[in-house]
Amino acid sequence: KANEVTLVFDSRPVNEALARITAASFCTQLNPTLEEVADLKTAVSEAVTNSIIHAYEGEIHKIEMKLCITGQEIYVEITDHGKGIPDIQKAMEPMYTTKADTDRSGMGFTFMEAFMDDLKVESQVGAGTRVRMKK
Ligand code: ATP
Ligand code: MG
Repeated sequence: KANEVTLVFDSRPVNEALARITAASFCTQLNPTLEEVADLKTAVSEAVTNSIIHAYEGEIHKIEMKLCITGQEIYVEITDHGKGIPDIQKAMEPMYTTKADTDRSGMGFTFMEAFMDDLKVESQVGAGTRVRMKK
């Protein structure tokens, strides 16, 4: 009885809002609180932004967002085929960023972890990254 949606989009900054709003819209069937929707939107936004700026570094390639609802839970999977993360554990530390020169604060993964109930990151250097979250 799962309900599943996949959205594949170009890594253009304008599409970050599309991904965020798609996730928010899809989750309404769970009758979430406003806070739960806001949490989901923030987590999706952080993951997609990471794929846009870190994985592809401004080049335009595909990002895939898979949403799945089973029972009262929503699963979100965001996949890119970008440069990958050499040390996932380190990347997930609060305030760790490889782009400190820009306006990055290194809090993306920390927010995803805080706002979702489960976060798993898989990555291979040169192949890409998959972020899986549950709420
Ligand atoms: P902020 O999210 O606060 O703007 P940030 O993006 O640097 O800053 P995180 O989102 O926590 O912080 O990510 C930490 C680091 O992990 C990044 O600086 C980057 O080096 C790496 N990273 C995250 N996502 C990806 C990805 N999809 N592909 C490659 N590297 C990534
Ligand atoms: Mg980030």
